[in-house]
Amino acid sequence: MAKKKSKREYVWLECVQCSQRNYRTSVNVAEGTPKLKLKKFCKKERKHTVHKIRRK
Ligand SMILES: [Zn+2]
Repeated sequence: MAKKKSKREYVWLECVQCSQRNYRTSVNVAEGTPKLKLKKFCKKERKHTVHKIRRK
């Protein structure tokens, strides 16, 4: 039997400047939502901005 202890959840990566949700990713939420900030390309603004995790 396979042990499944990882608690992964699908989240959005949301642009902090225009609140556009550009990316879907999965994170480990076993110890709460990770405070991740990533530089990603925002399709709306067509430039790289900081994106943060947004849980549903
Ligand atoms: Zn944006």
